[in-house]
Amino acid sequence: MTDQIPPAPPPQTPPPVAGTVGSAGAGLAGNGGIGAAAMAASVGRAKEVGTAGAVGAKKAVLSPKEAFKQALSQGSDKESGSAAKENGDIGPSSNVIDFVDNIIENGITLGVSDIHMEPFEARSRLRYRRDGTLKEVEEFATFLHANYSAVSTRIKILASLDISERRLPQDGAIRFDYKAGDDIVDLRVSVLPTSCGERIVMRIMDKSALNMPLADLGFPEAEFAKIQKAIHSPQGMILVTGPTGSGKSTTLYAVLNSLNDPEINLMTAEDPVEFKVEGIGQVHVKDNIGLTFTAALRSFLRQDPEVIMVGEIRDKDTGDIAVKASLTGHLVLSTLHTNDAPSTITRLINMGIPSYLITSSLTMVIAQRLARKICLSCKTEDMEATKESFLSLGFPEDVASKAKAYTGTGCDECFDAGAKGRRAIHEILVITRTIKEAILANKNDIEIGDIAKAKDGFVTMQDTGRALILEGMISIEEFKRILMIED
Ligand SMILES: [Zn+2]
Repeated sequence: MTDQIPPAPPPQTPPPVAGTVGSAGAGLAGNGGIGAAAMAASVGRAKEVGTAGAVGAKKAVLSPKEAFKQALSQGSDKESGSAAKENGDIGPSSNVIDFVDNIIENGITLGVSDIHMEPFEARSRLRYRRDGTLKEVEEFATFLHANYSAVSTRIKILASLDISERRLPQDGAIRFDYKAGDDIVDLRVSVLPTSCGERIVMRIMDKSALNMPLADLGFPEAEFAKIQKAIHSPQGMILVTGPTGSGKSTTLYAVLNSLNDPEINLMTAEDPVEFKVEGIGQVHVKDNIGLTFTAALRSFLRQDPEVIMVGEIRDKDTGDIAVKASLTGHLVLSTLHTNDAPSTITRLINMGIPSYLITSSLTMVIAQRLARKICLSCKTEDMEATKESFLSLGFPEDVASKAKAYTGTGCDECFDAGAKGRRAIHEILVITRTIKEAILANKNDIEIGDIAKAKDGFVTMQDTGRALILEGMISIEEFKRILMIED
């Protein structure tokens, strides 16, 4: 991705060293000089204006809530932006620079995954995606709207994009110096011109998500043992499935990290390579030059690997070669977009892979979702949960008649979302002899699921979800959102 970015134009105004601090101080004079908010702005400054950042003292560590409030006061205390409004093309003012640093720094502190900025005719909107849900930060709207083009120019400078190009979409990246050197956080930036101006989405790349130990992913002990057995087999194919945003990459990387060993050759084909991992040969797939998943996989087989990870099985070609690799002494890991584990098998068959090849290569399918956990600070009994609602979720009669469910009403801790933090819900289908027989007998996905439950103790995501409702960890609403998806 980054290698397709046009050369970075130099910032058109020099980094405002003294000016930044002076004007930030002036802007906050009403608050008693350069307060914590001004420091928050300066210490978070991205690399290229680091000289200004060095002026501020190291700021105290703030809780997400404090940081959030501070960012809000920062945004609304700023001048109205009348000057900045006109100068979008000659470089952003220091207030704009502070504003951009703040929305990024606070987004990272709050653990958001994406920052959305959208211009409309009468207003502009800034939204944070947190735990999977978008929420507007209304306090930023006025400043953002008054300075929209200057803010987007600032972001394009940080992302090394062409600031004069306003008609075509651009993709870039920012390496953000979080908390003045505490950590470098990578952001992926997408700029899309709309009829009202440039819509910008910044994805905050969360390295920690790809460094999760397998043991911390929440697999029950028995399931964890099955996974250990499958990933330490010298050959076979393990597929992880689920919709976008279900945490598939986290699971795959946890497996790869647990296998990353000097005695093992690991190769991956990814689209794109989001995080570089030492010890793994990662290939960035580029369809436009013919470096497809299939082409990468073919080449891998001549690179003497033990373990191969291919980002996604999209078609028969990729499927064929993944199957072939897994039959010839390689452990193959990949993903597929299917709703559950049993339907993954029917998907492969529909792709044109013969069932006898599936039964001889596939060892395990892990399907998963990410569920939002009820916020512990505003958790309360869900009074709308009736016996009928439990029955409709598949609870048995005797449980439904006396079960209780919980929900979050929304509070300061969870920014009114009613939920805070997420956990994965998995289902693990081991391709046992019983399942192989079912596949060869052309059973459909529902039949395969029923056979697995009856004979192999298969636990579905819905079973786990129902247990989590009774435990009070997830709400009925969340269960419906992630686990009642129709094909
Ligand atoms: Zn709450």
